[in-house]
Amino acid sequence: MIKIDGSEGEGGGQVVRNSVALSLITGQPFTIHNVRGKRSKPGLMRQHVTAVEAACVIGAAETSGLAVGSTELTFRPGTVTPGDYHFAVGTAGSTGLVLQTVLMPLILADGPSRLVLEGGTHNMLAPPFDFIERCFVPIINRMGPTVTAKLVRHGFYPRGGGRIEVDIVPSPLRRIDGLDRGALVSRSVNALVAGLPGEIAAREIKEARKRLPDWPEDAFSIRQLPEAQGPGNILLVEAEFEHVTEISSGFGKLGTSAESLAKDASRRMSGFIESNAFAGPYLADQLLLPFALAGGGSFTTVKPSQHARTAADIIDLFLGRRFHFDQQCGGEHLVRLR
Ligand code: ATP
Repeated sequence: MIKIDGSEGEGGGQVVRNSVALSLITGQPFTIHNVRGKRSKPGLMRQHVTAVEAACVIGAAETSGLAVGSTELTFRPGTVTPGDYHFAVGTAGSTGLVLQTVLMPLILADGPSRLVLEGGTHNMLAPPFDFIERCFVPIINRMGPTVTAKLVRHGFYPRGGGRIEVDIVPSPLRRIDGLDRGALVSRSVNALVAGLPGEIAAREIKEARKRLPDWPEDAFSIRQLPEAQGPGNILLVEAEFEHVTEISSGFGKLGTSAESLAKDASRRMSGFIESNAFAGPYLADQLLLPFALAGGGSFTTVKPSQHARTAADIIDLFLGRRFHFDQQCGGEHLVRLR
C-alpha cells in the first residue's frame, strides 16, 4: 500500500487525480492522508469525489473515505474496462479534471472508449475545453493514441450544464521530445460571453489589443453564446506553433475587471512567446503523467510550477521514475526522465 501525505508539495486536488490514475494503471493501492492539506478548506470537494467515482466505475476500484470533506482516502484498483461511460460532474465541477483522472487508464486499456462528461467546461483553476482540445490532446495523439474531444455545450461556473464527448482509441504511449515548438503559425484572442452584456467582451478585446500591439487586427474576435449557457465569460489568448499550441485564459468573475483579466492573460502569453519554451506552465504539469508512462522523452517549459514538481513526486512513488528539471542557458527548463 502506497502512503501519501496530501499536504506535501502543492498539496491540492491534483495529487488525488494523479494517484488515482497511476493506481489504476499500475494496480497498486494507495492511501492519502491530509487530502488537499494546503488548501484553505482541506479535504475532498465535490469535483474530486466525482473524479474518483468515475475512476471506480472504469476500474472496478474500491475506496474508503470517499466523501465530500474527507481528509483520508484509500483506493484499491480493480481492472480497467474500456467502454461507453457517462459521468455528470454536477453543477460546478470541471469535466476537464474528470477527464484528467480517467484518460490515461483508458488510453492504456485493451479497447476503445467513449466518454460523455457533463458539468463545467470552462472553470477557473482547471483546463478549459479549448486547452484540452488544442494544447493537450494533440501531444497525446503524437504519442500513439487517437483521442478526439468535442464540445457539445459550454458550461460555466457555477451553473455547469456543459457537455463534452471524448473518443479514445488506445495505444501504448511512445516517447517523444518536445524541444522545438517550431514557427508561429497563427494567433487569436477570443472573448466568449454567455448571458452577460457583450460590452464585457468588447472591453476585454480592447485591452488585449493594447497589450498585444503586434497581433493582427483579424486575430481578435467576440463570440456571444446562447443566453441559456450563461452566465459566463472567458478570454482565450491562443498561439499556435508548428509543434505545439498554447492558450492562456482569463476567467471572468465578479470582482475582476474585464481589463485586468485581459491584461493578465495577454501578459502570460507574451511571457510564453518570449520564453522559447515548448510547454507553458499548465501543459507542463499535465504532460508529466503521459511522458512517465511512455518511459521517457523530454520537453522544455517555462519555470516549473509547484504543481509540476508535486506531480513528479507522485509519479516517482508509483513508477520509481524521477523527472529532472534543468534550467537551460536560454532560461527555459528541460524536463526529462532519469
Ligand atoms: P485544488 O482546489 O486543491 O487546488 P484542483 O483539483 O482544483 O485542486 P489543482 O490541483 O489546482 O486542482 O489542479 C488543476 C489542474 O488544472 C492542473 O493540472 C492545471 O495544469 C490545470 N489548469 C488550471 N488552470 C488552467 C488553465 N488556465 N489552463 C490550462 N490548465 C489549467
